[in-house]
Amino acid sequence: MRWIKGGLRFECQPDCGQCCTQSIFGNGEVEGVFLTKRDARRLAKAGLDWAVEERDGYLLLAEKDGTCVFLDEKTKGCGIYANRPTQCRNFPFTPGRDSPLATRERWAVAREGCPGIDVGRFYDKTSIRKLVRGRGEHGGFRV
Ligand code: SF4
Ligand code: SF4
Repeated sequence: MRWIKGGLRFECQPDCGQCCTQSIFGNGEVEGVFLTKRDARRLAKAGLDWAVEERDGYLLLAEKDGTCVFLDEKTKGCGIYANRPTQCRNFPFTPGRDSPLATRERWAVAREGCPGIDVGRFYDKTSIRKLVRGRGEHGGFRV
């Protein structure tokens, strides 16, 4: 993550919801909303374990025809906002080798699917690192 030393801009755009309707998250092999074990536990506690899938050794959120099962198609809102996974909470400042932060190239790929990347609010390196560690939430994921 050394490439982020100059900070980055991100601001989720109103009425977008693109990242819930397309697989812009991925690691080149598997695409979707990746879950941490903690995310999966939180979903199970809320009775939503049916929406947790295991694919190629990853835990993922269930989707139908490329759309997250929790996206409200009418409002473009998240149906499980309080329980949404870390990836949705802190995107694009997510941890791991699959993160858009992993390399400059991955950031550029994510930008193709997300109009909020490289625009709006500025985050310095320290605040990005805090978000990656799950400490705090960013300016808002608007779906
Ligand atoms: S994170 Fe990006 S793709 Fe997702 S809703 Fe916000 S602006 Fe759209
Ligand atoms: S859990 Fe919510 S924010 Fe995350 S992809 Fe599904 S609808 Fe979008």
